Order: sequence, then structure tokens, then C-alpha cells
Amino acid sequence: MKKANLIMLGAPGSGKGTRAVALCEVLNVVQVATGDLFRNNIKGGTELGKLAKSYIDKGELVPDEVTASMVKDRLQQPDTQKGFILDGFPRTIKQAEMLESILKELGEEITAVIFLDVPDAEIVKRISGRVICEKCQAPYHKEYSPSKVEGVCDKCGGKLYTRDDDKPETVLNRLEVFRKNTFPLVEFYEKKGLIVRIPPELSAEGAVSDMRKLSQELGLL
Ligand code: AMP
Repeated sequence: MKKANLIMLGAPGSGKGTRAVALCEVLNVVQVATGDLFRNNIKGGTELGKLAKSYIDKGELVPDEVTASMVKDRLQQPDTQKGFILDGFPRTIKQAEMLESILKELGEEITAVIFLDVPDAEIVKRISGRVICEKCQAPYHKEYSPSKVEGVCDKCGGKLYTRDDDKPETVLNRLEVFRKNTFPLVEFYEKKGLIVRIPPELSAEGAVSDMRKLSQELGLL
């Protein structure tokens, strides 16, 4: 069986987080979501959080070096040894190159890159109903995958809120940044034979069974 060191690649709102959480459940590995790590730092008032906030609020990318060094620290923690799902990283070619050297140092390599191919019009619809848990950051969608009790997280009981950077003005910039900086990674990983394209479902309902099937197809289960 292959080790699950996976990358989730897709535009903001493409369902990366939901699929990553499902894969972690199926494969018993950890999710490494750079957006969540930054938001935790912002909440904790750290220097990294202060720096990251100035970029996140504008829908810009946090500088590559800062982001890669945070990922390197995270990947050195023992819970990633069974495998990891990178969610939201890499987002630039430079970050992908930095990831290669980080993994080389750790004696690891990427097993597959899961690309969620979602049309732009759909993305805008998805982001405009998205809420996340303020405690555990679990994602929900008011229409497509609502929580059982409105405004309350099913998993931990935390309060659900709309991310500041999910406001329409910021979303448009984030989509632009995705097209310009992140989309070229599809070709980058295609050349390495690592890309697996999946058409994401609208609801989160089937995510776990979809991800179990995908894991079997990839020889991870
Ligand atoms: P996300 O939760 O993945 O949508 O990330 C939220 C925001 O965090 C992004 O819009 C960026 O400002 C920042 N961010 C997350 N991951 C990265 C990354 N790999 N590189 C640079 N900035 C990032």
C-alpha cells in the first residue's frame, strides 16, 4: 500500500477543505491546511498571525518563504508520519519547488495531487454561502451542506461564521490570484504524472464515500 502524502489543489470554494477532512477520516492521516494555520495564528495574536492578516484581508498570498517555513515546521511534527493532506499549499510554483526540497530533507514524496475542477460561476455561488466553525474550522455551506442546527458546528458545538475574506470584493481578488499563481500548478504536477482530476459534488454528503473510492483507486487503502 502506498503512503498517503496528498495535495488538494483547487480554487477557493472548490471544496478542498471538505474533501481533505473526508480523506483524513478515510485514511487516518492529518490535514495540513495553511489557511487554518494562519487563522489560528491570527486568533492567537502571534507575530506570524499579524503578518499573515495583512495579506489575507486583501485576498493576497502570504509570502512564499513565510508560508513554506510554517509548513516545514508542521510537517516535522510526528503526527504527519503516517501521511498528510496538504490543503491550500502549495499555491505558487515557487512554493511547489520549496515543498520538493522540504520533502526531500524529510525523506518523503508526494503520492498524488487531487485537482478539484470547478467552473468559476459555481465557485462564486459556493463561497457566498460558506460558513466555518470559529473553534475547529470545519466548513459548511448554508444551502449545500448545512449544519444540523443553524449557526452551530455539528462536530464541536462551536459558532459558525462567515470568513472576512469570503466577502464578494475579496473573493474576486482571490479568484484572480488563483488563476494567475496557483492554476499553473496543474501543469507542473501533470508533467510529473501526479494529477488526479475529480469533479467535485455539490453537497458534502457523499464526500466520505467518494474519497474512500478515490483512495482505493489510488492504492492508498
Ligand atoms: P484558505 O483558507 O486556504 O482559503 O486560505 C486563506 C488565505 O490564507 C488565502 O487567501 C491566503 O491569503 C492565505 N494562504 C493560505 N494558504 C496560502 C499559501 N499556500 N500561500 C500563501 N498564502 C496562503
